[in-house]
Amino acid sequence: MKKWFLVFVFFYAINNLKSQDLNQSDLVSSCQNFNELNNNILLGSINKNSATMMVKFQLQLINQIYFQIQKFDSNFNKFYFPIQGYNAKAIGGKSGNGYVPAGFDYFDGDKHTGHAAHDIFINDKNQDALDDKTKKPANILAFTGGVVIAMSPNWDSTSTLRGGKYIYVYNPILNIICYYAHCKDIYVKIGDIVKPKQVIATVGRTGLNAFKKRSPTHLHFMILKLDANLYPNPINSYNLLLKSKF
Ligand SMILES: [Zn+2]
Repeated sequence: MKKWFLVFVFFYAINNLKSQDLNQSDLVSSCQNFNELNNNILLGSINKNSATMMVKFQLQLINQIYFQIQKFDSNFNKFYFPIQGYNAKAIGGKSGNGYVPAGFDYFDGDKHTGHAAHDIFINDKNQDALDDKTKKPANILAFTGGVVIAMSPNWDSTSTLRGGKYIYVYNPILNIICYYAHCKDIYVKIGDIVKPKQVIATVGRTGLNAFKKRSPTHLHFMILKLDANLYPNPINSYNLLLKSKF
């Protein structure tokens, strides 16, 4: 697609939005568009320049709709540890050294390198994706509030994609996107507004490497911070995880 065409579509969409009442279904359809874009980025089927521009446009749209349909809620920005019943001791590595951002770029999709995230492990010796103590799946809680802008509720073991079943939640107030990967079951839909601490999924073993025997059962948790151009750069969430509520 030509750049000028994208710019035209964007400004047309923005102007159109201003002249009508927005509701949840507008949020859902804009998030569905983002999800499709995210799929193309993941599969490497869109070039990086177009993808960068389109991510910016789509997030601006979602942001605008969000602020028109949602009242401000100060609780929306609280931080909760993303696995119920666990705490910072479950974070892999030593003192947060599991976070290796070098080589990571969101726009490299599934081909990214580095590990711009923290792996948070559950007790699951027999690798059945059930917590050894409770014999139940471990709940993934929304680290903070946000809009579900992309997700993959399906995965099968022949897939070569690494994230497995995953969720991206965009917090338009903090300008961050939280990414939860290797889930077992997912309880949210595209366009849902989730509250902090809401159960959004369960910890699983989905994804090319997470499925393998050598991988202990864990949640891959990443935070992307949007810069002034809405470019998603990873940040080290370790201190935020330490400070989060349990
Ligand atoms: Zn990981």
